[in-house]
Formats: sequence, C-alpha cells, structure tokens
Amino acid sequence: MLFKWRLLKTSLKIRFNEGIEISYRETRIILDPSKFNSKCKLALLTHAHRDHSKGYVEYSSGFATDQTLDLLSLYTGRRKTVKSGKVRIGEKLKIDDLEISVHDAGHILGSVMFHIATSEYSILYTGDLNCVETLISKPAEEVPCETLIIDSTFGYPYFRFPGRDKLYSDIISWVIDVIRRGYTPVLHADSIGNAQELIALLNKFTKIPVVTHPRISEVNEIYIQYGFKLDYLNYNSEDGFESVKSGLCVYIAPKNVNVSLGKPTVKALASGWALTFGNGFPLSDHADYPNLINYVANVKPKRVYTYPDGYSSRVLAGRIEKVLNIPARSIGDISPFL
Ligand SMILES: [Zn+2]
Repeated sequence: MLFKWRLLKTSLKIRFNEGIEISYRETRIILDPSKFNSKCKLALLTHAHRDHSKGYVEYSSGFATDQTLDLLSLYTGRRKTVKSGKVRIGEKLKIDDLEISVHDAGHILGSVMFHIATSEYSILYTGDLNCVETLISKPAEEVPCETLIIDSTFGYPYFRFPGRDKLYSDIISWVIDVIRRGYTPVLHADSIGNAQELIALLNKFTKIPVVTHPRISEVNEIYIQYGFKLDYLNYNSEDGFESVKSGLCVYIAPKNVNVSLGKPTVKALASGWALTFGNGFPLSDHADYPNLINYVANVKPKRVYTYPDGYSSRVLAGRIEKVLNIPARSIGDISPFL
C-alpha cells in the first residue's frame, strides 16, 4: 500500500543528523547524539550502550538517568559525566515549550524512552527497547504518541525469539550438560544487560559459581549498587581464578573477547544475533519483530520512523505499513526537517 507522506501539521520537527534532532520554535535538542552538534542546546540520552551514548559527554547540557551515567562513566571516566543533569523514570522535564516525560524502556539498567510533547503534537523516541519481562527488567512502557521513533535492531520477520522460560531452561540445561561432560561452559554476551541477566539466571536455578571477565565485573558492581543481587566472582580475584582452575564454574565474557582459560571449554553466544550466527541462545535485551509490531499497534501512532537507518529499519517500516496500515519510514529516508 502506498501512503502519501504529508508534512507534519506542526512546527515540531525531526531530523536525523548524528542523532535524532528535534526542533520546535527556537529550541533544538538532540537525542542519543553520536557527535557534537553546535545547533542543539541540549542532549538527552536513553542508555549507556556506546552506539547510543558516544557523543553525549560532548554536550555541556543534557539529561540521563543516574544508572546510565554510572555505566557511561565506565567508558568515559567519572569526570566527563558530572556536568549531566539527571532524570528518573516517571519524571517530567520542561525545556522551553517542550514537555518531556521519561519512561522505562526495559532494555538495560537505567534505559529510558523520551516522550516529547508540545500543546499540539507528541513524539515518542524509544531508544533500544525490550517488551518482555526478564529476571532483571520490566517490559517497556507503552506510551501513546502521534509520531513514534522506534528501534529496529531486530526488525525483520526472521527475528522471533523464544520466550524467556524456554531460553532460561535451554541455557541451564546446556550449562549442566557441558559441566557433566568435563568442560567449562563459556557464555559470550553483551557486557551491559545480557551478562547480568545470565548471572541472575544461574544464581536463581543453580549453585554453580559464576566467574565474569573483569569488564563485566565492573558493570556487575553498578547493578549491585542499584539493588540487584548478583552472586559472581571476578576472574581477576583469587577466588575467581581458583574457581576457573577447578573447572567447576560458568565463565561469562564479552562478545568480542577471545577466552583462553587453560581448561577445555565449550563456548556459546547469548545474544539475539545467535539466531543468525548459530551456536548459542537468542537471549536479547531488544524486542524481536513480533514484539515491535505489537508495540507499534499498542501505542497507536499516526506515523512511525524506524531507527537506526539500515536494511532492518527499511524492512520494519515496510512491514508496519503493510501489517498495521500506519505510514512508516526509515529515519534515514526522511528529508531534513519533515
Ligand atoms: Zn542498547
């Protein structure tokens, strides 16, 4: 179906330029900037993952959650995050004539969505979102809006993740089987989010010691600081090293790290990308295709932009138009300041 893509009947405008730029009257702000944009007076950050947070500390004015700033400081150093303002889920901000409310995105610790409204129009920017409950997160809030800008990382129909119950039981069974066969199970996962979900899972259903790579251990400490109970050993500690030496443990490492423990290991990936690469478990902190379509249906936007730009976002936009009959475009396909 072909839609006529009309200009918005509002002066609230969107542009994709090193982040999502929002313009209303004299106010320009940027969401999840990848670089500094001198035209924007203020930046908003949804979460700490580097593909969203790379340019944030370049801004002298901005808002993010406490949790996001703590995680971000692992990359940037504490000094660079101190000038940021802080927001909490449920809070409202007023920036000139823009009213901005902050909602849970269900993705990683501290991740939020921003709902940006004027007296005449509203935009919801989801950042990365997850729509299912996990051991460490709640589902993304469904926030009605007129324009929705939605994450499309797993936006094509191939990406359908099993439910958490099946994933959790598959991972636990695999870990027990690998240990029974005399190997050490090694799970590769995102350092922020997936790794902590794995620890919580192993803690809940087994008594097997969990040893984590030092980079993940740093993140674990921030989750613990915010009340999560994670029982783990840092590989760089004496107990962690001894546990690995005994062979009776699970080792969790970042995705891109080559692990050599001096013991026979069996490795698996815990990530949505396991559906593509095989040899693993599609445990994701992103929504899959059916959940993205459901989310769009439930927040009832008049139009949708899919983000970030790429093959997946074009496919998702096409599917939203076809399945839901709602006009949709990949954010990279819109003209400046629609
Ligand atoms: Zn993310």
